[in-house]
Amino acid sequence: MFMPRAGLEALQTYSVADTDWAIRLDANERPTDLPPAVKARIIERLGLLPFNRYPEISAQSLKAVIAAEFGLQAANVLIGNGSSEILEALCFAYGGAGRSIVYPSPSFSMYGIYAKLADSQPVPVALQADYTLDADKMLTAAEQAAAGVILLCNPNNPTGTVMPPEQIEYIAANTRSLVVVDEAYHEFYGRTAVSLLGKYPHVAVARTFSKAYGLAAARVGYLLASEAVAGTIGKVLLPYNINALTLITAETVFGMRREFAGSLAETSRERERLTAALGAVAGIHVYPSQTNFLLVKSEQAPELVARFRRRGIGVRDFSAAPGLAGCIRIGVGTPAENDAVLEVAAG
Ligand code: PMP
Repeated sequence: MFMPRAGLEALQTYSVADTDWAIRLDANERPTDLPPAVKARIIERLGLLPFNRYPEISAQSLKAVIAAEFGLQAANVLIGNGSSEILEALCFAYGGAGRSIVYPSPSFSMYGIYAKLADSQPVPVALQADYTLDADKMLTAAEQAAAGVILLCNPNNPTGTVMPPEQIEYIAANTRSLVVVDEAYHEFYGRTAVSLLGKYPHVAVARTFSKAYGLAAARVGYLLASEAVAGTIGKVLLPYNINALTLITAETVFGMRREFAGSLAETSRERERLTAALGAVAGIHVYPSQTNFLLVKSEQAPELVARFRRRGIGVRDFSAAPGLAGCIRIGVGTPAENDAVLEVAAG
Protein backbone atom coordinates (compact mmCIF):
# COMPACT_ATOMS: atom_id res chain seq x y z
CA MET A 1 0.00 0.00 0.00
CA PHE A 2 1.11 3.58 -0.74
CA MET A 3 1.90 4.52 2.83
CA PRO A 4 5.05 5.57 4.62
CA ARG A 5 6.71 3.15 7.01
CA ALA A 6 5.26 2.95 10.53
CA GLY A 7 6.39 5.86 12.70
CA LEU A 8 7.68 8.01 9.84
CA GLU A 9 4.61 10.24 9.57
CA ALA A 10 4.99 11.34 13.17
CA LEU A 11 8.66 12.20 12.71
CA GLN A 12 9.46 15.90 12.42
CA THR A 13 11.81 16.90 9.61
CA TYR A 14 14.93 18.60 11.02
CA SER A 15 14.72 22.22 9.98
CA VAL A 16 16.52 25.42 10.73
CA ALA A 17 15.57 28.89 9.50
CA ASP A 18 17.33 29.31 6.16
CA THR A 19 17.69 33.06 6.53
CA ASP A 20 20.66 34.83 5.05
CA TRP A 21 21.57 36.87 8.13
CA ALA A 22 24.20 39.59 7.70
CA ILE A 23 25.85 38.07 10.80
CA ARG A 24 25.38 34.30 10.98
CA LEU A 25 25.83 33.05 14.51
CA ASP A 26 23.14 30.37 14.45
CA ALA A 27 24.92 27.23 13.20
CA ASN A 28 28.25 27.11 15.09
CA GLU A 29 30.23 27.54 11.89
CA ARG A 30 33.67 29.02 11.48
CA PRO A 31 32.95 32.77 11.09
CA THR A 32 35.29 33.27 8.13
CA ASP A 33 36.15 31.33 4.98
CA LEU A 34 39.22 29.07 4.91
CA PRO A 35 42.70 30.58 5.32
CA PRO A 36 43.56 31.88 1.79
CA ALA A 37 46.59 29.54 1.34
CA VAL A 38 44.39 26.52 2.14
CA LYS A 39 41.61 27.60 -0.21
CA ALA A 40 44.09 28.28 -3.02
CA ARG A 41 45.58 24.79 -2.64
CA ILE A 42 42.13 23.16 -2.72
CA ILE A 43 41.18 25.02 -5.89
CA GLU A 44 44.49 24.06 -7.49
CA ARG A 45 43.97 20.39 -6.64
CA LEU A 46 40.33 20.41 -7.77
CA GLY A 47 41.54 21.66 -11.15
CA LEU A 48 43.43 18.38 -11.61
CA LEU A 49 40.47 16.14 -10.72
CA PRO A 50 39.10 13.89 -13.46
CA PHE A 51 35.39 14.58 -12.94
CA ASN A 52 34.31 11.57 -15.03
CA ARG A 53 35.67 9.02 -12.54
CA TYR A 54 34.07 7.68 -9.39
CA PRO A 55 35.89 8.60 -6.20
CA GLU A 56 37.69 6.03 -4.06
CA ILE A 57 35.06 3.55 -2.94
CA SER A 58 35.55 4.04 0.78
CA ALA A 59 37.69 7.17 1.09
CA GLN A 60 40.81 5.10 1.74
CA SER A 61 43.45 7.83 1.36
CA LEU A 62 41.68 10.25 3.73
CA LYS A 63 41.22 7.39 6.22
CA ALA A 64 44.96 6.68 6.04
CA VAL A 65 46.07 10.25 6.83
CA ILE A 66 43.57 10.60 9.66
CA ALA A 67 44.54 7.20 11.10
CA ALA A 68 48.24 8.11 11.03
CA GLU A 69 47.58 11.25 13.09
CA PHE A 70 46.09 9.12 15.89
CA GLY A 71 48.50 6.19 15.63
CA LEU A 72 45.67 4.03 14.25
CA GLN A 73 45.09 2.02 11.08
CA ALA A 74 42.82 3.00 8.18
CA ALA A 75 40.53 0.14 9.31
CA ASN A 76 39.87 2.13 12.51
CA VAL A 77 38.43 5.10 10.59
CA LEU A 78 35.12 5.75 8.83
CA ILE A 79 34.46 8.85 6.75
CA GLY A 80 30.96 10.27 6.51
CA ASN A 81 29.04 12.89 4.59
CA GLY A 82 29.30 15.06 7.68
CA SER A 83 29.63 13.36 11.04
CA SER A 84 25.82 13.28 10.77
CA GLU A 85 25.98 10.40 8.31
CA ILE A 86 28.15 8.36 10.65
CA LEU A 87 26.02 9.10 13.70
CA GLU A 88 22.97 7.93 11.79
CA ALA A 89 24.77 4.86 10.45
CA LEU A 90 25.87 3.74 13.89
CA CYS A 91 22.29 3.97 15.10
CA PHE A 92 21.34 1.61 12.25
CA ALA A 93 24.25 -0.70 13.02
CA TYR A 94 23.99 -0.86 16.82
CA GLY A 95 20.36 0.25 17.34
CA GLY A 96 17.50 -1.10 15.30
CA ALA A 97 14.08 -2.52 16.10
CA GLY A 98 13.62 -3.45 19.74
CA ARG A 99 16.81 -1.66 20.81
CA SER A 100 17.28 1.68 22.50
CA ILE A 101 19.70 4.55 22.22
CA VAL A 102 20.54 6.60 25.29
CA TYR A 103 21.79 10.19 25.10
CA PRO A 104 21.81 13.28 27.31
CA SER A 105 19.14 15.94 27.13
CA PRO A 106 19.44 18.72 26.20
CA SER A 107 22.00 17.80 23.56
CA PHE A 108 22.26 17.68 19.77
CA SER A 109 18.63 17.33 18.72
CA MET A 110 19.41 14.94 15.88
CA TYR A 111 20.28 12.06 18.23
CA GLY A 112 16.60 11.39 18.90
CA ILE A 113 15.80 11.57 15.19
CA TYR A 114 18.60 9.15 14.24
CA ALA A 115 17.36 6.74 16.89
CA LYS A 116 13.82 6.86 15.48
CA LEU A 117 15.01 6.52 11.87
CA ALA A 118 16.78 3.35 12.96
CA ASP A 119 13.55 2.10 14.56
CA SER A 120 15.20 2.30 17.96
CA GLN A 121 13.72 3.64 21.16
CA PRO A 122 15.20 7.09 21.96
CA VAL A 123 16.01 7.42 25.67
CA PRO A 124 16.94 11.01 26.56
CA VAL A 125 18.51 11.34 30.02
CA ALA A 126 18.17 14.76 31.65
CA LEU A 127 21.37 16.65 32.44
CA GLN A 128 21.65 18.26 35.85
CA ALA A 129 20.54 21.86 36.46
CA ASP A 130 23.99 23.22 35.51
CA TYR A 131 23.94 21.02 32.37
CA THR A 132 26.64 18.66 33.61
CA LEU A 133 26.18 14.92 33.21
CA ASP A 134 25.33 12.48 35.99
CA ALA A 135 27.26 9.41 34.79
CA ASP A 136 25.47 6.99 37.12
CA LYS A 137 22.09 8.19 35.90
CA MET A 138 23.24 7.62 32.33
CA LEU A 139 24.47 4.11 33.17
CA THR A 140 21.26 3.21 34.97
CA ALA A 141 19.17 4.40 32.02
CA ALA A 142 21.35 2.42 29.62
CA GLU A 143 21.08 -0.70 31.72
CA GLN A 144 17.32 -0.44 32.22
CA ALA A 145 16.75 0.15 28.51
CA ALA A 146 19.37 -2.49 27.48
CA ALA A 147 20.80 0.24 25.27
CA GLY A 148 22.57 -0.64 22.04
CA VAL A 149 24.29 2.73 22.05
CA ILE A 150 25.14 5.45 24.57
CA LEU A 151 25.72 8.73 22.72
CA LEU A 152 27.69 11.42 24.54
CA CYS A 153 28.40 14.87 23.17
CA ASN A 154 31.61 16.40 24.47
CA PRO A 155 31.65 19.38 24.60
CA ASN A 156 27.88 19.32 24.55
CA ASN A 157 25.79 21.21 22.01
CA PRO A 158 23.87 23.45 22.78
CA THR A 159 24.99 23.87 26.39
CA GLY A 160 28.77 24.21 25.81
CA THR A 161 29.46 22.12 28.92
CA VAL A 162 32.05 19.33 29.08
CA MET A 163 32.49 15.89 30.60
CA PRO A 164 36.02 15.21 31.77
CA PRO A 165 37.56 12.15 30.04
CA GLU A 166 37.61 10.35 33.42
CA GLN A 167 33.81 10.54 33.49
CA ILE A 168 33.64 9.05 30.01
CA GLU A 169 36.01 6.28 31.03
CA TYR A 170 33.82 5.58 34.05
CA ILE A 171 30.85 5.14 31.72
CA ALA A 172 32.86 2.96 29.30
CA ALA A 173 34.14 0.76 32.11
CA ASN A 174 30.64 0.15 33.45
CA THR A 175 28.59 -0.62 30.37
CA ARG A 176 28.51 -3.11 27.54
CA SER A 177 26.69 -0.72 25.20
CA LEU A 178 28.61 0.96 22.39
CA VAL A 179 29.76 4.33 23.79
CA VAL A 180 30.08 7.01 21.12
CA VAL A 181 31.63 10.33 22.03
CA ASP A 182 30.63 13.05 19.57
CA GLU A 183 33.57 15.48 19.66
CA ALA A 184 32.25 17.92 17.05
CA TYR A 185 33.67 20.83 19.10
CA HIS A 186 36.83 19.09 20.30
CA GLU A 187 39.27 21.64 18.84
CA PHE A 188 37.90 24.37 21.11
CA TYR A 189 38.26 22.18 24.21
CA GLY A 190 41.40 20.09 23.71
CA ARG A 191 40.60 17.03 25.81
CA THR A 192 39.48 13.85 24.08
CA ALA A 193 38.30 10.29 24.58
CA VAL A 194 40.60 9.01 21.79
CA SER A 195 43.01 7.52 24.33
CA LEU A 196 40.21 5.20 25.51
CA LEU A 197 40.02 3.49 22.11
CA GLY A 198 42.92 1.15 22.76
CA LYS A 199 41.51 0.05 26.08
CA TYR A 200 37.79 -0.22 25.31
CA PRO A 201 36.80 -1.76 21.95
CA HIS A 202 33.24 -0.53 22.54
CA VAL A 203 34.23 3.17 22.58
CA ALA A 204 34.17 5.28 19.41
CA VAL A 205 34.86 8.97 18.78
CA ALA A 206 33.14 11.09 16.12
CA ARG A 207 34.68 14.28 14.76
CA THR A 208 33.74 16.78 12.06
CA PHE A 209 35.43 19.14 9.63
CA SER A 210 32.36 21.42 9.75
CA LYS A 211 33.24 23.53 12.79
CA ALA A 212 36.87 24.36 13.65
CA TYR A 213 38.10 23.47 10.16
CA GLY A 214 35.53 25.57 8.36
CA LEU A 215 34.28 22.88 5.95
CA ALA A 216 30.55 22.97 6.69
CA ALA A 217 29.99 23.42 2.94
CA ALA A 218 31.88 20.23 2.03
CA ARG A 219 30.06 17.87 4.45
CA VAL A 220 32.67 15.62 5.95
CA GLY A 221 33.21 13.99 9.31
CA TYR A 222 34.84 10.85 10.65
CA LEU A 223 34.65 8.15 13.28
CA LEU A 224 37.56 6.52 15.11
CA ALA A 225 36.73 3.07 16.46
CA SER A 226 37.99 -0.46 16.94
CA GLU A 227 38.28 -2.41 13.71
CA ALA A 228 35.26 -4.50 14.66
CA VAL A 229 33.03 -1.48 15.32
CA ALA A 230 34.25 0.45 12.27
CA GLY A 231 33.74 -2.63 10.09
CA THR A 232 30.21 -3.14 11.37
CA ILE A 233 29.15 0.48 10.89
CA GLY A 234 30.89 0.51 7.51
CA LYS A 235 28.36 -2.08 6.30
CA VAL A 236 25.61 0.52 6.64
CA LEU A 237 27.40 3.28 4.69
CA LEU A 238 26.84 3.45 0.96
CA PRO A 239 29.80 2.82 -1.34
CA TYR A 240 31.22 6.12 -2.71
CA ASN A 241 29.51 8.04 0.10
CA ILE A 242 32.16 10.77 -0.02
CA ASN A 243 32.49 12.54 -3.33
CA ALA A 244 35.91 13.23 -4.85
CA LEU A 245 35.60 17.02 -4.43
CA THR A 246 35.01 16.64 -0.71
CA LEU A 247 37.82 14.10 -0.39
CA ILE A 248 40.34 16.46 -1.98
CA THR A 249 39.05 19.36 0.11
CA ALA A 250 39.17 17.47 3.40
CA GLU A 251 42.60 15.96 2.70
CA THR A 252 44.02 19.39 1.93
CA VAL A 253 42.53 20.94 5.06
CA PHE A 254 43.74 18.07 7.22
CA GLY A 255 47.23 18.34 5.77
CA MET A 256 47.31 22.10 6.34
CA ARG A 257 45.51 22.16 9.70
CA ARG A 258 48.33 24.10 11.37
CA GLU A 259 47.10 27.10 9.32
CA PHE A 260 44.02 27.20 11.52
CA ALA A 261 45.83 27.64 14.85
CA GLY A 262 45.63 31.44 14.86
CA SER A 263 41.91 31.60 14.15
CA LEU A 264 41.14 28.85 16.69
CA ALA A 265 43.01 30.79 19.35
CA GLU A 266 41.12 33.94 18.37
CA THR A 267 37.78 32.16 18.69
CA SER A 268 38.69 30.99 22.20
CA ARG A 269 39.79 34.51 23.20
CA GLU A 270 36.63 36.01 21.75
CA ARG A 271 34.51 33.42 23.55
CA GLU A 272 36.05 34.48 26.86
CA ARG A 273 35.53 38.16 26.01
CA LEU A 274 31.87 37.52 25.12
CA THR A 275 31.34 35.38 28.23
CA ALA A 276 32.59 38.16 30.49
CA ALA A 277 30.84 41.01 28.70
CA LEU A 278 27.47 39.24 28.23
CA GLY A 279 27.64 38.00 31.81
CA ALA A 280 27.93 41.62 32.97
CA VAL A 281 24.61 42.55 31.28
CA ALA A 282 21.77 42.63 33.81
CA GLY A 283 19.29 39.78 33.28
CA ILE A 284 21.61 37.60 31.18
CA HIS A 285 23.19 34.42 32.52
CA VAL A 286 26.01 32.90 30.47
CA TYR A 287 26.86 29.21 30.84
CA PRO A 288 30.59 28.44 30.78
CA SER A 289 31.52 27.10 27.34
CA GLN A 290 34.45 25.17 25.88
CA THR A 291 33.19 25.54 22.31
CA ASN A 292 32.72 28.17 19.61
CA PHE A 293 29.28 29.15 20.92
CA LEU A 294 27.66 30.36 24.13
CA LEU A 295 24.38 29.38 25.72
CA VAL A 296 22.78 32.35 27.44
CA LYS A 297 19.63 32.53 29.50
CA SER A 298 17.37 35.52 29.80
CA GLU A 299 13.84 36.07 31.05
CA GLN A 300 13.41 38.23 27.97
CA ALA A 301 14.76 35.61 25.53
CA PRO A 302 12.15 36.12 22.76
CA GLU A 303 12.64 39.92 22.86
CA LEU A 304 16.40 39.51 22.83
CA VAL A 305 16.23 37.18 19.81
CA ALA A 306 13.96 39.71 18.04
CA ARG A 307 16.46 42.50 18.76
CA PHE A 308 19.32 40.42 17.36
CA ARG A 309 17.30 39.68 14.23
CA ARG A 310 16.38 43.34 13.70
CA ARG A 311 20.11 44.00 13.65
CA GLY A 312 20.61 41.22 11.08
CA ILE A 313 22.16 38.79 13.57
CA GLY A 314 21.00 35.16 13.38
CA VAL A 315 21.12 33.27 16.69
CA ARG A 316 19.47 29.99 17.68
CA ASP A 317 16.41 30.41 19.85
CA PHE A 318 16.04 27.39 22.15
CA SER A 319 13.77 29.17 24.62
CA ALA A 320 10.84 26.84 23.94
CA ALA A 321 12.91 23.62 23.79
CA PRO A 322 12.70 21.03 26.59
CA GLY A 323 15.20 21.76 29.37
CA LEU A 324 16.29 25.03 27.75
CA ALA A 325 13.62 27.53 28.86
CA GLY A 326 14.81 31.08 28.22
CA CYS A 327 17.96 29.93 26.41
CA ILE A 328 19.56 31.30 23.25
CA ARG A 329 22.67 29.90 21.56
CA ILE A 330 25.02 32.50 20.12
CA GLY A 331 27.99 31.52 17.97
CA VAL A 332 31.33 33.21 18.50
CA GLY A 333 31.91 35.35 15.42
CA THR A 334 34.67 37.67 14.26
CA PRO A 335 35.64 40.39 16.76
CA ALA A 336 33.47 42.92 14.86
CA GLU A 337 30.50 40.53 14.83
CA ASN A 338 30.91 39.94 18.54
CA ASP A 339 30.97 43.71 19.13
CA ALA A 340 27.61 43.89 17.34
CA VAL A 341 26.25 41.11 19.60
CA LEU A 342 27.39 42.98 22.70
CA GLU A 343 25.84 46.26 21.50
CA VAL A 344 22.48 44.59 20.96
CA ALA A 345 22.64 42.69 24.27
CA ALA A 346 23.43 45.87 26.18
CA GLY A 347 20.20 47.32 24.72
N1 PMP B 1 27.34 16.68 16.34
C1 PMP B 1 27.11 17.85 16.92
C2 PMP B 1 27.18 17.95 18.38
C3 PMP B 1 26.80 18.98 16.16
O1 PMP B 1 26.57 20.13 16.76
C4 PMP B 1 26.73 18.86 14.75
C5 PMP B 1 26.41 20.03 13.85
N2 PMP B 1 25.57 20.96 14.34
C6 PMP B 1 26.97 17.61 14.20
C7 PMP B 1 27.27 16.54 15.01
C8 PMP B 1 26.87 17.36 12.74
O2 PMP B 1 27.88 17.95 12.06
P1 PMP B 1 28.28 17.58 10.57
O3 PMP B 1 27.26 16.64 10.03
O4 PMP B 1 28.29 18.89 9.85
O5 PMP B 1 29.63 16.96 10.67
